[in-house]
Amino acid sequence: MTEDSLLNHALVRLDEAAAHLSIDPDVIEKLKYARETTKVRLMIRMDDGSRKSFLAWRCRYDDTRGPTKGGIRFHPESTADEVETLAFWMTFKCAVMNLPYGGGKGAVQVDPRKLSKAELERLSRAYIQAFARIIGPDRDIPAPDVYTNSMIMGWMADEYAQIVGQAEPAVITGKPIALGGSLGRGDATARGGFYLVRHLAEDCGLAESARVAVQGFGNAGQHIADLLASDGHRIVAVSDSEGAVVCADGLDVALLLEAKKQGRSVLSTAGQAGHQVLAADQLVAVDCDMLVPAALENMIHEGNAGTVKAKLILELANGPVTPEADKILAGKGVVVFPDILANAGGVTVSYFEWVQNRQGYYWTEEEIHQRLRSIMEREGRAIWTIAGEKQMPMRTAAYVHALSRLAEAIEAHGTQNFFMS
Ligand code: GLU
Repeated sequence: MTEDSLLNHALVRLDEAAAHLSIDPDVIEKLKYARETTKVRLMIRMDDGSRKSFLAWRCRYDDTRGPTKGGIRFHPESTADEVETLAFWMTFKCAVMNLPYGGGKGAVQVDPRKLSKAELERLSRAYIQAFARIIGPDRDIPAPDVYTNSMIMGWMADEYAQIVGQAEPAVITGKPIALGGSLGRGDATARGGFYLVRHLAEDCGLAESARVAVQGFGNAGQHIADLLASDGHRIVAVSDSEGAVVCADGLDVALLLEAKKQGRSVLSTAGQAGHQVLAADQLVAVDCDMLVPAALENMIHEGNAGTVKAKLILELANGPVTPEADKILAGKGVVVFPDILANAGGVTVSYFEWVQNRQGYYWTEEEIHQRLRSIMEREGRAIWTIAGEKQMPMRTAAYVHALSRLAEAIEAHGTQNFFMS
C-alpha cells in the first residue's frame, strides 16, 4: 500500500474522528487495515469460443459488528486498493446506520459494457464459484454497486443456491423481486438521500425550490433527479460518462430518463426542451443550490473544489470528495452530507431485504419507505447535532458517530484475539 493510496486518504477521516474521542489505540489499529482481501483470476468462455481472464477481489474489511456487507463493482479501473477503501467506507456506513453488519466490498476489473449478456452471466457466476466459501448469509453478503444490478444479483443468487444445494436468498441483496428481492431496493440509495435532505433542509437553509446539479446518471443519479423534481426542485444540470447538459430553468427529467432507458447518453437530449451541452468537467461549477455527486470517487478535488457554487453537497457516490477538497469546501461554508450517511439508504434497504429473507415474510413498499425514512432521519439528526455541538463538518461528525459504535463493539469483544473477532 503506497503513501498515496486511496485507503490512506480515506484513513485521514478515521484519524480526524479519533482526535475527538478518547479511543483505545487498539481500536484504531484494528480499523486501519482490511481483515482479509482475496484476489482471484476469473476465467470465462467468450461467445467467440476464446477464453478470457479477469481480476476479481472480495474484501471483508471488518466484521466486529456483524457479517460483512457491501456491493460488487464491475469496472475496468477497479483495483485492490479501491476495493479495500470501499469496504472501509461500508464498515463506517453500516455503523452510522446502526445496522448489524461490518463492511465488505468486491469488484471485477472489467468493462461490462463490452460483454454480451451471456458473457456477463458467465462472469457473474464465475465470481460466485470463486468466492462461494467466503460469502454467506452470516458471513459476507454482497449486493449491487457500480455497473452491477438486480439481474446480476439474480444470477449470483442462483449460482450460490446450486453450489450449496438449496436456496439461500439472504446471501445476497438487491435481487429481483421474483427471487426474494425487496420492494423499494431499486431507488433506495437516492430515496435515503432524499429523506435526509428533506429532513435537514430547513436547518441548512435549502430553498423549497432548490436548483440541483447531478453528476452521474446511473441508478442513484436518475432516481434522485426524479425524486427531487417531483418534490418541486429544479434539476439544472446532469452528466454521465459521455457528457453533460444544462438548463437554468430546469431540465426535462422525463426526457432524460427516457434517453437512459433507451441506452442513450443524457447528451442525446441536447437541443430539446431547452437542454444545452455543457462540458462534463464543468458540472461541479454550475450555478446551483445543491450538488449531488452520484458517480465515482475523487470527482471533487483540490483542482475544482474552489469552483463549486452550491451551498450543499449530497454525496450519493462513495468517496466523491477528496480530503483536500473537504478543506476548501469547509472554508467556503459549503455543507457536505457525507457518503457514509447520504448514500446509506441502499445498504439499509439491503438490510431490510436480508431480514425479510430470513423471516420469509415480506413487507409492503410503504413499510419499507417508512422504516428507511425513520432511520435516515434518526441518524441524520444525530449527526447534525454532533456537528453543531462540536463545531465540526458533517463528515467528521458522521465518523465520530460511527467510530464510537465500532469502538464499543471492538472493546466488548475482548482484547485477546483480534482475528477471531
Ligand atoms: N453498493 C452500495 C453501497 O455502496 C450498497 C451496498 C449494499 O447494499 O450492501 O452502499
